[in-house]
Amino acid sequence: MKLQSYVRDRWFEASEGFVDLTSAIDGRTIAQASSRGLDFAAAVDYARTVGGPALRKMTFHERAAMLKALGTYLNDRKAPLYELSNETGATKRDNFVDVDGGIGTLFSYASKGRRELPNSNAIVEGEIEMFGKGGTFGGRHVLTPLQGVAVHINAYNFPVWGMLEKLAPTLLAGVPAIVKPATVTSYLTHAAFVAMIESGLLPEGAVQLIVGSVGDLLDHLGGQDVLSFTGSLETSLTLRNHPVVARKAVRFIAERDSLNSAVLGSDAVPGTPEFDLFVDEVVREMSVKAGQKCTAIRRAIVPRAHYFAAAEAISKKLAGLTIGDPRLPSVKMGALAGLGQRADVRANVAKLREEAALLFGDPDHVTLEGADDATGAFMSPVLLGCERPLEAVAVHEIEAFGPVSTLMAYDSTGDAIEIVKRGEGSLVASVYTYDPEIARDLIFGIASYHGRVIAIDRDDAKESTGHGSPMPPLVHGGPGRAGASEELGGMRGVFHYMQRTALQGSPARLASLTGTWTPGAGELAKPKHPFRYAFGELEIGDTLHTAARTITLEDIEHFAHFTGDTFYAHMDEEAAKANPFFPGRVAHGYLLLAFAAGLFVDPAPGPVLANYGLDDLRFTKPVSPGDAIAVRLTVKNKSLRDASYGEVRWSVQLTNQNGETVATYDLLTMNATSDTSGASKAVEPALVAP
Ligand code: NAP
Repeated sequence: MKLQSYVRDRWFEASEGFVDLTSAIDGRTIAQASSRGLDFAAAVDYARTVGGPALRKMTFHERAAMLKALGTYLNDRKAPLYELSNETGATKRDNFVDVDGGIGTLFSYASKGRRELPNSNAIVEGEIEMFGKGGTFGGRHVLTPLQGVAVHINAYNFPVWGMLEKLAPTLLAGVPAIVKPATVTSYLTHAAFVAMIESGLLPEGAVQLIVGSVGDLLDHLGGQDVLSFTGSLETSLTLRNHPVVARKAVRFIAERDSLNSAVLGSDAVPGTPEFDLFVDEVVREMSVKAGQKCTAIRRAIVPRAHYFAAAEAISKKLAGLTIGDPRLPSVKMGALAGLGQRADVRANVAKLREEAALLFGDPDHVTLEGADDATGAFMSPVLLGCERPLEAVAVHEIEAFGPVSTLMAYDSTGDAIEIVKRGEGSLVASVYTYDPEIARDLIFGIASYHGRVIAIDRDDAKESTGHGSPMPPLVHGGPGRAGASEELGGMRGVFHYMQRTALQGSPARLASLTGTWTPGAGELAKPKHPFRYAFGELEIGDTLHTAARTITLEDIEHFAHFTGDTFYAHMDEEAAKANPFFPGRVAHGYLLLAFAAGLFVDPAPGPVLANYGLDDLRFTKPVSPGDAIAVRLTVKNKSLRDASYGEVRWSVQLTNQNGETVATYDLLTMNATSDTSGASKAVEPALVAP
């Protein structure tokens, strides 16, 4: 089968230059790949001129709904993907990580997008910053989608997850993508991509696929484009130094080799739960995906006193692993992605053995179930041992991307930290200890060298995600040689495909541009109480000023006894006076909130459905008996949740009889869109980027 690329919403088949893609299980040819003859410039142009505008017409919530629908569609079509995935050497457990994990990423970003992003296609960040005393000029940040294309160049180890974990944040941000999977396992990425296109859920030009090499694609990139790479250090350097990427400052992000570590605390002696957890995790990380995981443990660091006990326990478990045809239920570890990959791993093991002893496994031979290592890319797990890691170099630099790990001995917690740091920055490290001081010393000693550090002990082991990537919502990436520190994971993954811009102008201009009211932006007075307007009719800046209410000592007494809050500051004049903050007995903060609601609420049934909570509550000045409080209630912003209701954020300010602010907060309500002719207006995002 000749795999076709997908460019400009059409399938493209090359006529020459094909390479054979072979099964990792038995070496038979499954497909052929070539991108020869593809018009890469046209692909970039199509993404920019068709895909980008189509995606930017949608809001974050619409794009999140699209991701969710796509996840559901793929979820119903997993069986053929599993079958093809077996051909990459993956077992059932590995499929779960790659196929289900990839689809899970779509769901995860879909729900984060809906919960954390506005129903528009730009993000307003932070509060307004004012520059002059007169309050007429200020600024605030907005993030808008880049108007280019995201080129995703992916590694071979996770053909489905690798594609979807990058597509989810990219599409959520509103940016089209060109996906270029690693050729050797591109038949699986291709199958998942075909299903995505068949779903009909993505707008035109949103995604394109290149099977084979990237040709002259990079020559056509520019400053609005993103190049997101996963793979080896060497390739990342080639891409970063590409003249166009460098000259045009194409955003470049790389996830690359990582010498991740696991550290056994000195308290975790053999027989403790933490020792057993350490052994289990090292073995799991060597065998899942046959060790072809960017987050796998490459360096297992143990107290010298337990070095041999750890070597024995790990080896015993490794000896119990059944290796072979990944389709067999008894098999726990499958093959590497191909014979070329196995040759690379063997070559790297040979280099590592110049500094480390072979503790378990034969790199050149393995006993298999239902398979033959002459034709299939199988390899035994290999545990190496390095008793003097601070005197070694290669064990901290060479990543054998297979079922290979090196056990290292340390003499003090300080040494353990130094050994970890020799990796020069990694995606993840795990620490196994039940001692709080050892945990603190180790974790803060190595944190700045990692994107993620996991403390594993008897209390959290059951639910721990271990070294496996938890993205989203946490950081996936790592500093230094691992390549990308914070750009990936959670919402930062989305922001990477957006530009942060400082907007400056008058408060009124900023309010109308960002759809977010701030003091100084002017107030709108309407004939009716704001609670009488449905979601679509409410305008940013609609304001109610209430009458004042005098707070009496009886109110405070009544509230105290009614609620049971008889804190001395409300009840005891002398004690309250002795407190540095109060002039004498003062009203409860909660009383002020309750009275404020009593002042601004319009009680009859109407569009306001529910009080959803308060944000940023501050009591800024004490309120004494005899003070009179009044409320200003202003529509700050709105976000439609679905066709029937939306969230309204109100800016609330309580002032006393002298006009001094005594409390401020944001009130959130859910408001119906119905019974109003303005409902359709509500679906128009407040902010629309071009
Ligand atoms: P690779 O050889 O660097 O290839 C990675 C990708 O780059 C492939 O799609 C490859 O395409 C492409 N590529 C190679 N040369 C290129 C060039 N000159 N221009 C444009 N694209 C080019 O890495 P790999 O062997 O596939 O992956 C294994 C490595 O990935 C390991 O070192 C592992 O640590 C790393 N990895 C890191 C992470 C992470 O998150 N840090 C995750 C997974 C993997 P072809 O296949 O067509 O050559």
